[in-house]
Amino acid sequence: MSGRGVLVTGASRGIGRAIAAAFAAQGDHVAIHHRDSAKEAQSLLEELPGQGHGIVQADLADPEAVRRMVDAAAQELGGIDVLVNNAGVFIDHPITETSYDEWRTAWQRILGTNLIGPANVTWCAVQHMPAGGRVINVSSRGAFRGEPNSPAYGASKAGLNALGQSLAIALAPRGIAVAGVAPGYVETDMTNEHLKSPRGEEIRAQSPFGRVARPDEIAAAVVYLASPAAEWASGAVLDLNGASYLR
Ligand code: NAD
Repeated sequence: MSGRGVLVTGASRGIGRAIAAAFAAQGDHVAIHHRDSAKEAQSLLEELPGQGHGIVQADLADPEAVRRMVDAAAQELGGIDVLVNNAGVFIDHPITETSYDEWRTAWQRILGTNLIGPANVTWCAVQHMPAGGRVINVSSRGAFRGEPNSPAYGASKAGLNALGQSLAIALAPRGIAVAGVAPGYVETDMTNEHLKSPRGEEIRAQSPFGRVARPDEIAAAVVYLASPAAEWASGAVLDLNGASYLR
C-alpha cells in the first residue's frame, strides 16, 4: 500500500534518513522530523521522490514541543498512518570513569530522548492514527547484549522494547500494530568515529560477514514491518545484526 502518511523522527541523517527515503520511494508521504538540523532536513526534502512531504521540528525531550510537532505532522500529512520512532542518542558514561554528576546527566538525557521521547511521540501520534496504523521502534542489539560503556543506552532500548510490547497489546483492538528492529552496528554519524578508530576492525569482525550494516538494510525491514502484510509481527523485535549476537 502506498500514499500513507509516515512520521519519521530523527530523519535528517543516518538510519532515519534512509527510512524516510525508503517510504518516499514506495509512494508514501513523509514528515521529516529533526531537532536542530534544518539544513539537512531541507536537503532531504528536496531529494525525496514524490510529493506531500514536509518538515517538523522538536527536541524529543520536551513534551510540549513533541505535542506541537506531532500535531503539525498530522496536519501536513492529513493523519499519521505510520510512526517510526528512530531518533536516539548514545553517550559514553562507563560507571568506573564518570563522576556522579556526569552519570546522572547521562541517564536523564538518554532516557529522556530514547524512551520517554518515543513514549510521548507515540501517545500524540495515536490520537491521529486510524485502524491499520503502525508504530515501529528503532531499538538496538544493546538492549539484549548489554552496553558496558553506555548502560543508560542499553536500558533505554530494553525499555523501548517493553514499551512496544505493551502497546502492541493495548493498540491491537484499534487495529494498530507495534513492532521494533534491533540493529547491531550500522555505518552512520553515530558510529563513524568508532568505525574509523583502531577498534573498527574488531567491530566489523563481530559479524561473521566481516562488516557492519548499511542504513538502507535497516530501512528495508522497517518498511516491511510497517506494511499491511506485517500485522502479525505486532509485538516482535527483529534482530538485524548480521549474526553478531544471537539470542
Ligand atoms: P544518528 O546520530 O546519525 O541519528 C540520530 C538522530 O536522532 C539525529 O538526527 C539526532 O539529531 C536525533 N536526535 C537525537 N537526540 C534528539 C532529541 N533530543 N530530539 C530530537 N532528535 C534527536 O544515529 P543513527 O545511527 O542514524 O541512529 C538512529 C537510531 O538507530 C537511534 O535510535 C539509534 O539508537 C539506533 N541504532 C543505531 C545503531 C548504529 O550502529 N548506528 C545501532 C543500533 C541502533
